[in-house]
Amino acid sequence: MLYDEAMQKVDIVIVGAGLNGLVAGIALASCKGLSVALIDQNDPTRFATPNHDSRTSALTQATQVMLETLGLWQNIKPHAQPVNDIIVTDSEDVAARPSLLSFALNASGKPTLSIVENFRLLDSILEKAKTTPNLSLHLGQKLASIKFSPGLGTLTLADGTAIKAALVIGADGRNSATREAAGIKLDGWAYGQSAITLTISHELPHNGMAEEHFLKSGVFAILPLPGNRSSLVWTESHERAQYLYNLAEAEFLVELRKKFGSHRGSLAIEGPKHLYPLSTKLAGQMIGPRLALIGDAAHVVHPLAGLGLNLGFKDAAALVECVYDAASLGQDIGGAAVLERYARWRRFDTVSSAYMFDGLNRLFSNDNAGLKLLRDIGLKLVDNSSTLKAFFVKEATGTSGDVPRLMRGLVA
Ligand SMILES: Cc1cc2nc3c(=O)[nH]c(=O)nc-3n(C[C@H](O)[C@H](O)[C@H](O)COP(=O)(O)OP(=O)(O)OC[C@H]3O[C@@H](n4cnc5c(N)ncnc54)[C@H](O)[C@@H]3O)c2cc1C
Repeated sequence: MLYDEAMQKVDIVIVGAGLNGLVAGIALASCKGLSVALIDQNDPTRFATPNHDSRTSALTQATQVMLETLGLWQNIKPHAQPVNDIIVTDSEDVAARPSLLSFALNASGKPTLSIVENFRLLDSILEKAKTTPNLSLHLGQKLASIKFSPGLGTLTLADGTAIKAALVIGADGRNSATREAAGIKLDGWAYGQSAITLTISHELPHNGMAEEHFLKSGVFAILPLPGNRSSLVWTESHERAQYLYNLAEAEFLVELRKKFGSHRGSLAIEGPKHLYPLSTKLAGQMIGPRLALIGDAAHVVHPLAGLGLNLGFKDAAALVECVYDAASLGQDIGGAAVLERYARWRRFDTVSSAYMFDGLNRLFSNDNAGLKLLRDIGLKLVDNSSTLKAFFVKEATGTSGDVPRLMRGLVA
């Protein structure tokens, strides 16, 4: 309903049109009768290129099902590389990297993990958002203020437009302004590590195999992409990462070969590389009055398991279900009951995942001989136990715990 030109009333306003905000917006606007406004201070259209983001995402089976249910997967699938196998090693010697653990993932015939370049994801999801009825996009619009009152959230844009909504969703990333406006604290710690991300092409095929090399400087991940291409996440100390990042291409390739090995023949760099300082950050709460936080606004996790975005998508799917159920019963969609249900559902999973990834990083990123022996015995135990392996595959595919309806192929 329009009050006047400078004031709009919608059911839900989402701040942040990153991947999590866009998916939440598309899903919520598809819930019968709900109007949704999505605001971003940037226009993500100009980010949907490899120049802006050379990262890829390992999408779990649960995420793929959700994207399919929302009609998004058909445009993403041609760019997705199914992962057939994951091998885990911790040897510093590239010539001899015995696999401590391996997972054959697609025994059921359905890809349980697929790798997609982030810019492809953003491009497809943004296109869908632009044509989704009941979803109004305010891109490239700076926020002037956010106020929460008992019945409404009010957001004022820099051009003076005020948007009022029963529910505000903060999907505005690690430096969330909505989180700050609600007075929700952020706890966490930084690692002395940065990750360089880039795409390479190689002479020999990867056959859908992902490699996770847990080295004392941090994880070196080789993730398969369509064609003879792979995405790399190369973790080093800040200083070393910065040094490598600044090298000219020929010198960088020399260093890369030392880390990568020769098993894929000759290598070439495709497109730009990017540098990300790594940290774990957890919002003190996932909700406030009239506010729900999703994705990196609520939790930033170490990328070694490649699950940060998947956690955010699960937040979005759970929140959509809470809102949908309340709307179907004629209840207040931004009321305390809905928000508390959402927080109970997602808080434990996100906090425990953050601590688990942190623990894995500490266990592997060190030079302690005793710890190395213990973890190698542990990994071998997992490798030899079909029950333990099934447990880890369930975790990695996002199908453990209370899976939201969207991630089970059901409309919210
Ligand atoms: C090296 C690396 C590798 C990774 N690999 C994986 C992987 O393999 N799998 C996986 O699942 N995850 C992975 N992740 C994590 C994943 O990339 C993030 O969790 C995810 O991108 C977060 O998305 P988001 O939408 O929550 O936030 P963002 O992408 O940060 O989007 C936030 C949006 O909010 C907007 N915004 C910010 N402030 C405001 C404001 N005040 N007003 C309006 N708009 C605002 C921004 O412009 C932006 O568009 C990785 C992360 C890193 C660093």
